[in-house]
Amino acid sequence: MMDTRQKEELIGLAGKNIRFHCPMAEHTTFSVGGKAEALYEACDMEGLKRVLAYIGKERIPYMALGRGSNILVKDDGLEGVVILLGGSLSRIEKSESDEISVLAGAGLSLADLLSYCSRSGLGGLEFLSGIPGTVGGAVAMNAGAFGEEIAARVRKIHIIDKQGNLVVKDRSSELKFSYRKLDLEKGSVIVRALFRLTREAEGAVGRKILYYLKRKKESQPLGYPSAGSVFKNRQGDYAGRLIEKAGLKGTKMGGAVISEKHANYILNTGGAKAKDILDLMYLAQETVKKETGIQLETEIRIVGK
Ligand SMILES: Cc1cc2nc3c(=O)[nH]c(=O)nc-3n(C[C@H](O)[C@H](O)[C@H](O)COP(=O)(O)OP(=O)(O)OC[C@H]3O[C@@H](n4cnc5c(N)ncnc54)[C@H](O)[C@@H]3O)c2cc1C
Repeated sequence: MMDTRQKEELIGLAGKNIRFHCPMAEHTTFSVGGKAEALYEACDMEGLKRVLAYIGKERIPYMALGRGSNILVKDDGLEGVVILLGGSLSRIEKSESDEISVLAGAGLSLADLLSYCSRSGLGGLEFLSGIPGTVGGAVAMNAGAFGEEIAARVRKIHIIDKQGNLVVKDRSSELKFSYRKLDLEKGSVIVRALFRLTREAEGAVGRKILYYLKRKKESQPLGYPSAGSVFKNRQGDYAGRLIEKAGLKGTKMGGAVISEKHANYILNTGGAKAKDILDLMYLAQETVKKETGIQLETEIRIVGK
């Protein structure tokens, strides 16, 4: 827990951009979870560097958060500082002289990145349509769909490390992506990502985006709060199919239910607690393990107390 001095010093550094005791249900797509001790919205690089250097020196725990669309925050909340990226850290910046590279702030939503790509006739990221995250969250999770992953389009990322230094990492030599994962040094906050895209004919990118959106709407339940797929899809079999075969579709715990449409989704149908979701996850893991010997691995990140 932070003490009064630390809180006052943080207010001195971050002003109105830092708030205390913030309900994480408002910052996650599951709409559950306890309070974060502090929530800091970084609006520019200098401010973020200062705050990171301070919380690093004081050994205050922290984590970066995008749209909270792949996160389950437990009911007793989070200690330390949750960092959101806004202002200039959520915009497109012009960079390389070639016309097909896009440097995007990590706080930018994927939807805004895709509209920019559509307007500019830049292709390669359309498969991300319908994923409700930010650039930073998508890179940190190596988001993917329809057999493609964001890693294939990332050229560089800019991070601020836990000492508050800006470091540029090159995809080919310094970044290791795997299924829904980027190996990042603990405490690194991604602040920008450089994507290399392809020039497409007018209207082609927009059409592809709509095509993927339609496919996503057909296959996935989008009506209730969720965090997308809860478990990783194993090579050769889908987590959803294993859960469905175990007869768990429609199973309820409190306000949470295993979706009837897609068994790898858990939905908050109203008033769910994080514990309800965790109980359903545990039930799915236990049942699938007993019936098939397969251990389902969690894709969503579980944080908090
Ligand atoms: C309806 C729905 C559909 C979905 N469909 C898909 C899909 O098809 N494919 C897919 O891959 N995912 C899918 N997801 C999951 C999720 O949207 C993605 O993983 C997304 O990329 C997460 O982005 P975010 O900004 O919300 O990250 P968050 O959930 O906020 O964070 C996820 C992780 O990334 C870290 N992180 C976030 N920002 C940064 C940063 N700037 N620097 C360092 N670390 C950071 C967080 O600490 C956390 O560990 C879906 C989710 C929903 C709700």
